[in-house]
Amino acid sequence: MAAALMVLDPATLTVAFVLLSAVLGTLLIFSWILSPGVSALAWWGSAFLLIGIAIASANLGQGQPSLLVLVTANALGMLAYGVLYGGCRIFNGRSAPIAGSLAGVVIWTCAFPFIYDSQGYRLMLASLLTGGYAMLSAWELGRHQVERLASQRVVVVLVLGLALFNFSRGMLGFSWVSVPWIAAFARRWSSEMALFLVIFTPTLAFMFLSMAKERLKFEYKQAALVDPLTSVPNRRAFLQNAAKLLGQLGDKPASCLLFDLDNFKAINDSYGHDAGDRILTVFGQVLAGHLPKRTFGRLGGEEFAAVLPMSAHEAAALADKIRHAFSAAGKAALGGQAEVTVSAGCATGARIEATALLQKADSALYRAKRSGRNIVIAA
Ligand code: GH3
Ligand code: MG
Ligand code: MG
Repeated sequence: MAAALMVLDPATLTVAFVLLSAVLGTLLIFSWILSPGVSALAWWGSAFLLIGIAIASANLGQGQPSLLVLVTANALGMLAYGVLYGGCRIFNGRSAPIAGSLAGVVIWTCAFPFIYDSQGYRLMLASLLTGGYAMLSAWELGRHQVERLASQRVVVVLVLGLALFNFSRGMLGFSWVSVPWIAAFARRWSSEMALFLVIFTPTLAFMFLSMAKERLKFEYKQAALVDPLTSVPNRRAFLQNAAKLLGQLGDKPASCLLFDLDNFKAINDSYGHDAGDRILTVFGQVLAGHLPKRTFGRLGGEEFAAVLPMSAHEAAALADKIRHAFSAAGKAALGGQAEVTVSAGCATGARIEATALLQKADSALYRAKRSGRNIVIAA
C-alpha cells in the first residue's frame, strides 16, 4: 500500500483560516444579538473578524508584503488580541479596557520604524505582545471569574496554550540568523501554524459560546431560585432543599424554624417601604450568618423558614439567638430609635413531609403572635 504524503499548502490553509475566522466572528456577533446581555460575545466576535482581516491582508497578497501592509496587518492583529482580552474583562463584569485593548497597537506602531528591517525583531515583538495579551486574558478569566463555570476553566487552558504558542514563536526569533534549521520554523507564516489555527480557532469560539450559555443558564437558575430583594433562597428553592434534607435524614429528627417579622406593616407605615425592604434584607443577612447555606429561605412577604437536622431543644435555642441578633441589627438599620422584632415557631419531627413540618411550625408561630410577639415557641 502506498503511503500518501500529505502536502499542506500554506495558501489554501490561510484562505481556510481567514474564512473560518470570518464565519466564527459573525456567528459570535449573531449570538450576541440573540443574547445582548452577554456583550463579551460582541468583543470576541470582533476579535475573530479582526484576526481574519489581519492574516488575510498580510498573507494573501502577491509576493512579499510591503512595509505599509506589514505595519497595518500586524497592528490589526494586535488589536484583535487586545479586543479578545477586553471581552474577557467584560465577561467578568469589569470595566471595558479601551486603553488596554489599544496598547498593543500603539506599542507595535511606535516600535515599527526601529525594527522594520529585521524579521527576527518583528517576530519577537509581535509574539511578545500577542502572547502577553493571551496571558492577560487567561489571568483575567482565571482570577476574576464571577461564578464557577466549567467552560471558563477550559478557556483558561486554551488561552494559556495560545500564549505559549505565541511566546515560543517569539523565542524562535532569537535564533533567526544563527541556527538556520530552527529559523525555518520561525517563518513569518507557515502551513503548520495555519493548521494549528484552523483547529484552535473553532475550539476557542465554541468554548466562548459555551461560556456565554453557561452564564445564561446560571442567571436563569439564580432568578428561579433566589429572592431578588434579600438574596436568600426563595420559597421554591427552600422547599426543594428542605425536601432533600428530610429525605436524607431518614429516621433522624429534623426541626423547622418559621419566622414572621412583628408588626411589619407598622414599620412600612412609619419608616416607608424602602426601610421595610432594608429590614427584610437585614433579616436575610442574620439568617445567612447563623445558618448553613441551603437550609433556609424567604417564604414570601416577611416570612422566612429554615429546616435543620437538630432536636427541638437545639432548634429553639438557635431561633432565640436569631431573634436577638435581628433585634440588634434591625434597630441599627433604622437608626437606633425603633424596636424591630421577630416571632418564631419551631416544630420537630422524623419521617415527615416538609409541608407538614411547616404547618406544625405555623401553629407554634400563631401562638407566639398571640402571646405578645418577640418570642420563640416550640410546638
Ligand atoms: P404581625 O406581627 O402579626 O406579623 O403583623 P404584621 O404587620 O407583620 O403582619 P401583616 O401580615 O399584617 O403585614 C405584613 C406586611 O408586610 C404587609 C406588607 O405590606 C409587608 N410586606 C410584604 N412584603 C414586603 C416587601 O417585600 N417589602 C416591604 N417593604 N414590605 C412587605
Ligand atoms: Mg406575615
Ligand atoms: Mg408579620
